Amino acid sequence: MTGFLTIDRVSKQFGGERPAVDDVSLSIGRGEFFALLGPSGCGKTTLLRMIAGLEQPGSGRIAIDGEEMTGLPANRRPVNLVFQNYALFPHMSVVENVEYGLMVTGAPAAERRTQAMDALALVQLAELAQRRPGQLSGGQRQRVALARALVKRPKVLLLDEPLSALDAKLREAMQLELARLQRQLGITFIIVTHDQDEALSIASRIAVMDGGRVQQVGSPMELYERPASRFVAGFIGRINLIDATIAARGAGWIECVAAELGPVRIPAPGDVGAENDSVTLAVRPERVRIGLERPEPGRMAVEAEIEDLAYFGDVSRLVAVTAGGQRLQARLPVGMTPGEVARGERRWLSWLPEETLLLER
Ligand code: ATP
Repeated sequence: MTGFLTIDRVSKQFGGERPAVDDVSLSIGRGEFFALLGPSGCGKTTLLRMIAGLEQPGSGRIAIDGEEMTGLPANRRPVNLVFQNYALFPHMSVVENVEYGLMVTGAPAAERRTQAMDALALVQLAELAQRRPGQLSGGQRQRVALARALVKRPKVLLLDEPLSALDAKLREAMQLELARLQRQLGITFIIVTHDQDEALSIASRIAVMDGGRVQQVGSPMELYERPASRFVAGFIGRINLIDATIAARGAGWIECVAAELGPVRIPAPGDVGAENDSVTLAVRPERVRIGLERPEPGRMAVEAEIEDLAYFGDVSRLVAVTAGGQRLQARLPVGMTPGEVARGERRWLSWLPEETLLLER
């Protein structure tokens, strides 16, 4: 495998029944903003700590820029790590905190100060250089932690849930800031997060992990438009999942039967499923059209009773339930206010066969 950062068949078991990280291989490019995304306990932090050298793989290899990392202690690796609970020294000024990262390099004091001030300028904190950490906001403290990690000019910056202690607004602002910094520096960033919005908004590629394994790697758009499994489909964004059976198949299409949709023919690649296989039909809420009348033939359609309506300002969402008990989510079209539909009313929900994803059950 080639790549700037190569993770080759890495596993790690702590003693539990299942490995925390299970045979993971990834190839991450130079200057990429890469995210490890997954639910709590999926192994993403353990993988990050192995890259940092804070944890040793049970098996497998990690290489950065052609250099084998196995056996190399954390402080000799060309990486730096920023945590959620960044520890700044309270008795030192902001600039001294950043300089601290350079102590071990043995650089002269004046040079250290210049580099620390440059790093603070990067995170737009130069004017607060003389303050103590106690005189900063949470977001500003996190920027100091970033400056301290960047001052040593690592080849790879590792970020372990760096924003999870911040409130929603600040978190969003810092996400943009991280993306800007990454573009400006061109350093490889790897962020660990359980927040799909965060991963989608800042990463150029994402590895979705579950149970210690990588389930899928792709750009945000690839993962959203073409999830490879039910797990990824459900983890990235909202989605409707409908159980179905394959009734027939031909070149480039599959005919499925789902209880309330009847037989439907959807486009599918040649290698998906065989007759009588159980599959999942998936459709994103924003693809679902809501109407009073039965839609024209050719659309997949089902009647359902509106169970829930929620107004979010920029978007309104509804949940409707079919006679068979299938819950479907949809988004109200722009211009349609929640006042035009009400709980308890019946509507036709429909979408196009080609808007349907076919997933293995
Ligand atoms: P979270 O988002 O909750 O931090 P995560 O995806 O980062 O989760 P890890 O911290 O990598 O998950 O943990 C993966 C598994 O390994 C978990 O089951 C965890 O309990 C276990 N684990 C992690 N570190 C250790 C350790 N030092 N000793 C024993 N088990 C560990």
